[in-house]
Amino acid sequence: MEKDYSELLKKLRKINPKTLDQTFLDLHNSEFEKIDCLDCGKCCSGLGPRITDTDIERLADHLKIKTSVFIQTYLRIDEDNDYVFKSMPCPFLMDDNFCIVYKSRPKACREYPHTNQKNIKSILNLSLKNTETCPVVENIFIRLEKLRAAGKL
Ligand code: SF4
Ligand code: SF4
Repeated sequence: MEKDYSELLKKLRKINPKTLDQTFLDLHNSEFEKIDCLDCGKCCSGLGPRITDTDIERLADHLKIKTSVFIQTYLRIDEDNDYVFKSMPCPFLMDDNFCIVYKSRPKACREYPHTNQKNIKSILNLSLKNTETCPVVENIFIRLEKLRAAGKL
Protein backbone atom coordinates (compact mmCIF):
# COMPACT_ATOMS: atom_id res chain seq x y z
CA MET A 1 0.00 0.00 0.00
CA GLU A 2 1.23 3.51 -0.82
CA LYS A 3 2.61 5.33 2.22
CA ASP A 4 0.69 8.32 3.53
CA TYR A 5 3.11 11.22 3.72
CA SER A 6 0.48 13.96 4.14
CA GLU A 7 1.53 14.82 7.72
CA LEU A 8 5.17 14.83 6.66
CA LEU A 9 4.47 17.17 3.73
CA LYS A 10 2.57 19.54 6.03
CA LYS A 11 5.54 19.58 8.40
CA LEU A 12 8.12 20.05 5.62
CA ARG A 13 6.21 23.03 4.23
CA LYS A 14 6.55 24.79 7.61
CA ILE A 15 10.32 24.41 7.80
CA ASN A 16 12.62 27.31 6.89
CA PRO A 17 13.56 26.82 3.18
CA LYS A 18 17.32 26.90 3.78
CA THR A 19 17.10 24.47 6.70
CA LEU A 20 14.96 22.17 4.56
CA ASP A 21 17.45 22.33 1.67
CA GLN A 22 20.27 21.37 4.06
CA THR A 23 18.23 18.51 5.56
CA PHE A 24 17.51 17.10 2.09
CA LEU A 25 21.12 17.60 0.99
CA ASP A 26 22.46 15.69 4.01
CA LEU A 27 20.03 12.81 3.40
CA HIS A 28 20.73 12.87 -0.36
CA ASN A 29 24.49 12.55 0.23
CA SER A 30 24.01 9.87 2.85
CA GLU A 31 21.69 7.77 0.63
CA PHE A 32 23.89 8.08 -2.46
CA GLU A 33 26.74 6.63 -0.39
CA LYS A 34 24.63 3.48 -0.02
CA ILE A 35 23.02 3.21 -3.46
CA ASP A 36 24.92 2.95 -6.74
CA CYS A 37 22.95 4.15 -9.78
CA LEU A 38 24.65 1.43 -11.84
CA ASP A 39 22.82 -1.15 -9.72
CA CYS A 40 19.49 0.58 -10.36
CA GLY A 41 18.88 2.45 -13.63
CA LYS A 42 15.18 2.88 -12.87
CA CYS A 43 15.03 6.55 -13.90
CA CYS A 44 16.76 5.83 -17.21
CA SER A 45 14.46 2.94 -18.01
CA GLY A 46 11.18 4.38 -16.74
CA LEU A 47 11.26 8.18 -16.75
CA GLY A 48 11.89 10.18 -19.88
CA PRO A 49 13.93 13.37 -19.34
CA ARG A 50 12.80 16.65 -20.91
CA ILE A 51 15.38 17.41 -23.60
CA THR A 52 16.27 21.04 -24.24
CA ASP A 53 17.69 22.62 -27.41
CA THR A 54 21.08 22.86 -25.68
CA ASP A 55 20.89 19.14 -24.84
CA ILE A 56 20.10 18.36 -28.48
CA GLU A 57 23.11 20.31 -29.74
CA ARG A 58 25.43 18.66 -27.19
CA LEU A 59 24.12 15.15 -27.85
CA ALA A 60 24.19 15.52 -31.65
CA ASP A 61 27.75 16.81 -31.39
CA HIS A 62 28.67 13.84 -29.17
CA LEU A 63 27.20 11.40 -31.69
CA LYS A 64 28.68 13.36 -34.62
CA ILE A 65 25.33 13.72 -36.37
CA LYS A 66 23.24 16.74 -37.37
CA THR A 67 20.72 18.04 -34.83
CA SER A 68 17.92 17.40 -37.35
CA VAL A 69 18.98 13.76 -37.63
CA PHE A 70 19.20 13.45 -33.85
CA ILE A 71 15.68 14.83 -33.47
CA GLN A 72 14.26 12.63 -36.21
CA THR A 73 15.96 9.49 -34.89
CA TYR A 74 15.47 9.78 -31.14
CA LEU A 75 12.88 12.39 -30.18
CA ARG A 76 9.19 13.15 -30.15
CA ILE A 77 7.17 16.07 -28.78
CA ASP A 78 5.12 15.25 -25.70
CA GLU A 79 1.80 16.64 -24.46
CA ASP A 80 3.61 19.56 -22.74
CA ASN A 81 5.25 20.44 -26.07
CA ASP A 82 8.68 19.32 -24.83
CA TYR A 83 11.13 17.05 -26.60
CA VAL A 84 11.41 13.61 -24.97
CA PHE A 85 12.85 10.30 -26.15
CA LYS A 86 10.66 8.47 -28.68
CA SER A 87 10.90 5.27 -26.71
CA MET A 88 11.79 4.19 -23.22
CA PRO A 89 13.97 2.66 -21.79
CA CYS A 90 16.27 5.43 -22.96
CA PRO A 91 18.03 4.52 -26.24
CA PHE A 92 21.38 5.36 -24.63
CA LEU A 93 20.98 3.05 -21.63
CA MET A 94 23.11 -0.10 -21.86
CA ASP A 95 22.30 -3.49 -20.33
CA ASP A 96 24.79 -2.82 -17.51
CA ASN A 97 23.04 0.52 -16.76
CA PHE A 98 25.87 2.57 -18.22
CA CYS A 99 24.85 5.61 -20.24
CA ILE A 100 26.70 5.73 -23.57
CA VAL A 101 26.34 9.52 -23.76
CA TYR A 102 27.08 10.10 -20.06
CA LYS A 103 29.39 13.10 -20.52
CA SER A 104 26.83 14.76 -22.82
CA ARG A 105 23.65 13.55 -21.12
CA PRO A 106 20.64 15.91 -20.84
CA LYS A 107 20.54 18.46 -18.02
CA ALA A 108 17.47 16.72 -16.56
CA CYS A 109 19.49 13.48 -16.26
CA ARG A 110 22.30 15.31 -14.45
CA GLU A 111 19.88 16.84 -11.97
CA TYR A 112 17.69 13.81 -11.25
CA PRO A 113 16.44 13.06 -8.54
CA HIS A 114 16.69 16.79 -7.61
CA THR A 115 16.99 16.12 -3.87
CA ASN A 116 20.21 18.18 -3.69
CA GLN A 117 18.76 21.21 -5.41
CA LYS A 118 18.03 24.60 -3.84
CA ASN A 119 14.46 25.52 -2.88
CA ILE A 120 13.40 21.91 -2.47
CA LYS A 121 10.19 23.27 -0.94
CA SER A 122 9.00 24.23 -4.44
CA ILE A 123 9.26 20.63 -5.68
CA LEU A 124 8.02 18.62 -2.70
CA ASN A 125 5.15 17.12 -4.70
CA LEU A 126 7.53 16.10 -7.49
CA SER A 127 9.90 14.60 -4.92
CA LEU A 128 7.07 12.61 -3.40
CA LYS A 129 6.21 11.34 -6.90
CA ASN A 130 9.85 10.37 -7.37
CA THR A 131 9.64 8.01 -4.37
CA GLU A 132 7.81 5.70 -6.81
CA THR A 133 10.87 5.52 -9.09
CA CYS A 134 14.04 6.34 -7.21
CA PRO A 135 15.13 4.29 -4.17
CA VAL A 136 17.24 7.22 -2.95
CA VAL A 137 14.19 9.48 -2.79
CA GLU A 138 12.13 6.69 -1.27
CA ASN A 139 14.71 6.24 1.51
CA ILE A 140 14.94 10.00 2.07
CA PHE A 141 11.18 10.15 2.66
CA ILE A 142 11.28 7.10 4.94
CA ARG A 143 14.00 8.77 7.03
CA LEU A 144 12.18 12.12 7.06
CA GLU A 145 8.99 10.40 8.23
CA LYS A 146 10.92 8.70 11.06
CA LEU A 147 12.37 12.07 12.09
CA ARG A 148 8.90 13.64 12.00
CA ALA A 149 7.37 10.83 14.06
CA ALA A 150 10.16 11.21 16.63
CA GLY A 151 9.60 14.98 16.82
CA LYS A 152 13.07 15.65 15.40
CA LEU A 153 12.11 17.72 12.37
S1 SF4 B 1 20.66 9.92 -21.54
FE1 SF4 B 1 21.83 8.60 -20.18
S2 SF4 B 1 21.41 9.39 -18.10
FE2 SF4 B 1 19.80 10.19 -19.48
S3 SF4 B 1 18.07 8.73 -19.38
FE3 SF4 B 1 19.43 8.11 -21.08
S4 SF4 B 1 20.82 6.59 -20.21
FE4 SF4 B 1 19.92 7.74 -18.50
S1 SF4 C 1 16.36 5.96 -9.92
FE1 SF4 C 1 17.67 7.05 -8.45
S2 SF4 C 1 19.11 5.48 -7.66
FE2 SF4 C 1 18.15 4.69 -9.54
S3 SF4 C 1 19.57 5.23 -11.18
FE3 SF4 C 1 18.08 6.87 -11.05
S4 SF4 C 1 18.97 8.41 -9.65
FE4 SF4 C 1 20.11 6.50 -9.41
